[in-house]
Amino acid sequence: MSVPLPGQGIVKGLVETARNFVGSYVEKDRLVTVQYPEERVPQAEASRNFPFLVYDGDDWQKGLRCVACQICEKECPPQCIYIVKDTARKPDHTGKLQFQPRLFEIDTSVCMSCQVCVEVCPFDAIKMDVEYELSTSDRFNSLLLRKAQLAKPNQYFHKIHPAEAAEVDARLGADKAKAEAKAAAATRPA
Ligand code: SF4
Ligand code: SF4
Repeated sequence: MSVPLPGQGIVKGLVETARNFVGSYVEKDRLVTVQYPEERVPQAEASRNFPFLVYDGDDWQKGLRCVACQICEKECPPQCIYIVKDTARKPDHTGKLQFQPRLFEIDTSVCMSCQVCVEVCPFDAIKMDVEYELSTSDRFNSLLLRKAQLAKPNQYFHKIHPAEAAEVDARLGADKAKAEAKAAAATRPA
């Protein structure tokens, strides 16, 4: 059995430290420092912060998928969603009459990013955003997000969560085709 030389452990430690020091400058996968804000680390698809409202088509008001059912408002654990439902149905982006939210607000200073609102929405109308540069000194005007600020197109949803958005589109497309087939069968003469 060989007896370790005096100071051998220290030398080994110093060699390891030197290897890590040099490696942190030259090995690509270990260059972890990012020159923010010029550079940003790409976000994981599952990353999330606050919710937004998805709309289809070109007109954000008509295209909102939200039908103001208020389930998310009731289920939100810290109660930071505030919705006022329209009193009459209005045409959506396809011309179909729908109830829409007259007011839809989320207090992001209270929201805890739990995603419960997304999970309970039966219409895939609310999804989690990834925008994180939201610091402000004006709480009322900046952290209380109103309907116009919350509305974002389905293309944006595809950009930030491509797999989830594709799955939602496929599911909604299949549901629509099933409903159309059912309606066509109902009008067909016996
Ligand atoms: S976002 Fe969804 S759950 Fe919330 S009110 Fe609109 S349709 Fe209902
Ligand atoms: S993410 Fe959670 S806390 Fe935030 S609005 Fe949705 S349900 Fe409420």
